[in-house]
Amino acid sequence: MTLSIPFDNSYARLPDGFFARQGPTPVRAPELIAFNHDLARLMGIDGADDPRLAALFAGNALPEGAEPIAQLYAGHQFGQYNPQLGDGRALLLGEVVGRDGLRRDIQLKGSGPTPFSRRGDGRAWLGPVLREYVVSEAMHALGIPTTRALAAVRTGEEVIRERHLPGAVLTRVAASHIRVGTFQVFAARDDREALQKLYDYTVERHYPDVTDPAQLLDRVMERQAALVTQWLSVGFIHGVMNTDNCTLSGETIDYGPCAFMDSYNPETVFSSIDRFGRYGYAAQADIIVWNMAQLASALVPLMPDVDAAVEDFTTRVRAMGDLIRAEWLTRFAAKIGISTPVAEDSRLIGDLLQLMDAGGSDFTNTFRALSRDAGRDEIADRAGFDAWAARWHERIADEPAPFELMARVNPAVIPRNHRIEQMIEAAVAGDDAPFHRLLQVLSDPYTDQPEAADLCRPPANSEKVRATFCG
Ligand code: AMP
Ligand code: MG
Ligand code: MG
Repeated sequence: MTLSIPFDNSYARLPDGFFARQGPTPVRAPELIAFNHDLARLMGIDGADDPRLAALFAGNALPEGAEPIAQLYAGHQFGQYNPQLGDGRALLLGEVVGRDGLRRDIQLKGSGPTPFSRRGDGRAWLGPVLREYVVSEAMHALGIPTTRALAAVRTGEEVIRERHLPGAVLTRVAASHIRVGTFQVFAARDDREALQKLYDYTVERHYPDVTDPAQLLDRVMERQAALVTQWLSVGFIHGVMNTDNCTLSGETIDYGPCAFMDSYNPETVFSSIDRFGRYGYAAQADIIVWNMAQLASALVPLMPDVDAAVEDFTTRVRAMGDLIRAEWLTRFAAKIGISTPVAEDSRLIGDLLQLMDAGGSDFTNTFRALSRDAGRDEIADRAGFDAWAARWHERIADEPAPFELMARVNPAVIPRNHRIEQMIEAAVAGDDAPFHRLLQVLSDPYTDQPEAADLCRPPANSEKVRATFCG
């Protein structure tokens, strides 16, 4: 059966200045690595047994109804404003309204140069493609809002980075690709008309009940506060929280040098380009407020009284810290079995985290062990743990089902960096089995899987990944 994607494109109907029409550049020898059948079904995509799948998701042929465009956006990169970024190696093929009624973008990543490529080659190499595939699907299984992966294809071509590497194309699915940077580009150009169009489009697509820009700002801040605290609760470090990698939909997007923390240390940074730790683990809670301040600035021109709006939006953005602290308390309280936290519980949580930090406890395994009431072996300071556990047991005595709650929110397995690196190494050598196994195990992260015990172990010293790269 031929592949059929029920495209229903809306972004391509926006004014020309929002994007550049651009087709993918064909590659030499497309070879399918993976196709996400569950996601395809959910999206109403038929014909997943089409022998041309590799060619279609490599960009060598376009599925009927696709209208490929490279989207325009700007953004602050590590705090510096870049007036024009845009899709330099990605193309939006179009949108689909799924069986669940949700509209989703289908995007090729690594599909060749676009007018926004600057000095880049428009390509991606196999490593980051497989990392994004595995980590985004793992995030989805963890229950965290995220873009997803529909397909991955080898190109049969080489990509030149520090060395020659195999090329690949990822097909990414997202609630949309509207970024803080999409608002910024029109605000910075003083293009009020385009800004208004983007605002109207975003509200209709993501927040149909919103009636003014101030409300939109509040709603995006709510979703981003929920998102970032969910990252913190599983030890996820995005790595590049530039405003162009920050969505209006509240989904995690752009898995570059992202990583999960093994041993707990709030200052953990993996990204090789993050020299000052701007986007380190704990810093993410502050950076998201900074990013929302940039969104607020970009929305101000839409308000009739700009001076009043500046004051009002400033107050709203300042309130985001409280929102994040409240969300953090709820998430971390659940991690120790408390269903309805009170403010003092942050002491109990904080004291545990301090014990974990002092002894370098594994973040994931400590909380999973606590879910079995067996955290003692994970904490170096045993006496300190016993004292803490006595307070903890007293606190959860009245909880109806603390351990059940904990088992639901504390994953048994996460995509550990060393396993991702080993998986990539194998795939570069032509062995995709570790990739498929990781995908399989990570699709059910809250269940103990004895046959996957090796994937739950923290890295040995020799396996530790100290830096991650963008690709
Ligand atoms: P990112 O760091 O992936 O969020 O990308 C930041 C900007 O760089 C975006 O405009 C990307 O499209 C662009 N970019 C990244 N890698 C490449 C590449 N290999 N070729 C062209 N543009 C790229
Ligand atoms: Mg990006
Ligand atoms: Mg990227």
